[in-house]
Amino acid sequence: MSTIFSKIINKEIPSDMVYQDEMVTAFRDINPQAPTHILIIPNKEIPTVNDIEADDEAMMGRMFHVAKKIAAEEGIAEDGFRLIVNCNKHGNQEVFHLHMHLVGGRQLGRMLPR
Ligand code: 5GP
Repeated sequence: MSTIFSKIINKEIPSDMVYQDEMVTAFRDINPQAPTHILIIPNKEIPTVNDIEADDEAMMGRMFHVAKKIAAEEGIAEDGFRLIVNCNKHGNQEVFHLHMHLVGGRQLGRMLPR
């Protein structure tokens, strides 16, 4: 099932894209929660973490490597940042195309409320 993220990958709708290769695409979140808020997504349509397969391992590694490179380019690597992947209802996932949030540029709160 395609989502709006497939249209962003294919450039059918505009986005503030910061990176794209044959495996992954990265673009700024439309509703940023911090000075840097970038989504890193597989080009392949994978709805949730539950749908990842063994063949996707290289792509998953690419997502982390691209996150590292973008964090450095954004100038937030040394101060630090957070990578978040939400899954399904309890994770409050809203868009069912796997994505990693790269969030930083300010002091973030605790990961989870106590
Ligand atoms: P989730 O809650 O599924 O982990 O996060 C989905 C994210 O996608 C949200 O942070 C939301 O702001 C972002 N988002 C939803 N639609 C669009 C869009 O059309 N363009 C961009 N750039 N971000 C989007």
